[in-house]
Amino acid sequence: MPNGQAKRMGLFDKFLGIFDENKQPGENTDGGKMPLLDKIAPYKRTTWMPFVEEDVDDEALATKIGGTAYLAPGENYPVCNNCQEPLTLFLQINPASLPENCDLDLEPDKLIQLFYCTNQHPHCETECQAWQPFAKSQLARTTVIPSTDVTLPAKAIPRQFPVRLVSDWVENEDYPDWHEMQQGAAGLSEQEVEELENEETAVPKAADKLGGWPYWVQGVEYPKCPECGIQMQMIFQLDSNHHLPYMFGDAGIAHLHQCRLHKNMLAFGWSSY
Ligand SMILES: [Zn+2]
Ligand SMILES: [Zn+2]
Repeated sequence: MPNGQAKRMGLFDKFLGIFDENKQPGENTDGGKMPLLDKIAPYKRTTWMPFVEEDVDDEALATKIGGTAYLAPGENYPVCNNCQEPLTLFLQINPASLPENCDLDLEPDKLIQLFYCTNQHPHCETECQAWQPFAKSQLARTTVIPSTDVTLPAKAIPRQFPVRLVSDWVENEDYPDWHEMQQGAAGLSEQEVEELENEETAVPKAADKLGGWPYWVQGVEYPKCPECGIQMQMIFQLDSNHHLPYMFGDAGIAHLHQCRLHKNMLAFGWSSY
């Protein structure tokens, strides 16, 4: 884990320290104003951080970061629409291996797959502005889970990342970015915004995680579903060089979103410092 990561997570834990368990809800801590906890409590969500296994054999249908993508029988390996070379698998999610209380409502019979072009010659990320959802050098999709056993091709594609199988999930509380809370009419005072904006109280969690609230580097950027125009929900966040050995810009953070109504509509984007 890079230093920045450890620092941010530590700071989040400090933030949780704001919530003194010995204080009753509504008890005044700042001379009559509602405590910060009460104000942000309605925004609390559960997030799950992946616990991964490295140096293991890849599994076709597993939830994993990196590794080899499952492909339907006879399907050609997906290529970049810019350089025509094979895309790199960043993430595959099998809904059967999610936490029991996960509320993301994924389709039970479909895998979610995120592919991205990591080719630097040409530099597809820049040429296609791949930080934007629906850029042509990335592919976020669902694919039907087969009912029979499948094996993966023995040969890795160029620029494939080593597999990290998600074998468990670590549950945590998560709270939104304060910009997002203000959009939700949280009515935070300037002082409270400062408290949340302060490095010492950084939320939400900046790490690889399933569900919860997006950590926005450059402000709130939910994509809208091209089918219905409704704001999509974040299903997975990828932090630079956390479990995926990839840097999004300058220590950026990436998000995979899905439409709640159109489950085949997925959008991937990132922003950086
Ligand atoms: Zn490409
Ligand atoms: Zn939609």
